[in-house]
Amino acid sequence: MTSWEKNIRKVVPYVPGEQPKEKNIIKLNTNENPYGPSKKVMEKAVELENLKLYPDPAASMLVEAIADYHGLSKEQVFVGVGSDDVLAMSFMTFFNSDKSILFPDITYSFYDVWAELFKIPYERVAVNDSFRIVASDYYKDNGGIIFPNPNAPTSIAEPLSFVEDIVSHNQDVIVIVDEAYVDFGGETALPLIDKYDNLLVVRTFSKSRSMAGLRIGYAMGNPKLIKYLNDVKYSYNSYTMNMPSIVLGVESIADDEYFKSTVAKVIETREWFKQEIEKIGFSCPTSAANFLFITHDTKGAKEIFEAARKENIYVRYFNKPRIDNYLRVTIGTREEMEKFLVFLKKYLNV
Ligand SMILES: *Cc1c(COP(=O)(O)O)cnc(C)c1O
Repeated sequence: MTSWEKNIRKVVPYVPGEQPKEKNIIKLNTNENPYGPSKKVMEKAVELENLKLYPDPAASMLVEAIADYHGLSKEQVFVGVGSDDVLAMSFMTFFNSDKSILFPDITYSFYDVWAELFKIPYERVAVNDSFRIVASDYYKDNGGIIFPNPNAPTSIAEPLSFVEDIVSHNQDVIVIVDEAYVDFGGETALPLIDKYDNLLVVRTFSKSRSMAGLRIGYAMGNPKLIKYLNDVKYSYNSYTMNMPSIVLGVESIADDEYFKSTVAKVIETREWFKQEIEKIGFSCPTSAANFLFITHDTKGAKEIFEAARKENIYVRYFNKPRIDNYLRVTIGTREEMEKFLVFLKKYLNV
């Protein structure tokens, strides 16, 4: 190794799901929402002007729209470039103890990457055999806690009482609940942010709002937490959010009817698809997300994954301990799921 290479920050990066360039793909691999954003968002997009100016560094319009929507003050909301940005910023801001932060062994695979990147000690706490997070495993001494609810890629949601159990046992550290999928059937921890000043709830526009391409995420919590996040953000990059994202994010919030109707369609398709695949030998946990975590009685997940890919149907396969016989299948349109079902029946000869 050349000597300069010794002092380089080396990380094994997170590997996002494939974004194939070909057309005619049934894309069920990265939990996007198939319906796209509201018409109001699209109309506003063509009217965008003043791209020559720097955006508002505080993204105030969007912060206020989100705060209003959730009945919070603007001091309780932080926005960022997708929840990945918000979460990375939160790791940097809140996880600075010498003690290990805790998160489930089966969870969003970015958490250990950020921990490595920021040199934060961490421990992966095993979920049980039914892939459930066990609250009492998080009672021990730690440097902070993060978990998604509903969890990914398992799709399992825990009730508010479960989240409160963990938060109340950990009032000396920051607890982050990643609610990327909560709109699809989870119970939000938002009512707890006034009661617990150490709780941060993180959301995204990428899944339920069908705006993954615009990169909008946000955190809600006690004004003190939000101030600390902003201090770190302004010390890193003042203009994290671009102007189109700020403006179009506000439009998305304004069209609540559209938002709720597409979420309802995804849920309806999910429940139908779950019933259909259970008839042909698949099983999966009850999902509160826009995906199902499926496994088959006899056929291996990897084989199914590869065969589907040959037919231009992309789902997600994780070659990881405990979950390497599972597929994470995003809920697309009814038509896309029907095509996937036809493929599965043909492939399984049923
Ligand atoms: C998709 C996802 C995110 C990141 O979403 P962004 O597009 O960066 O907002 C964060 N956490 C979980 C659990 C996710 O599934």
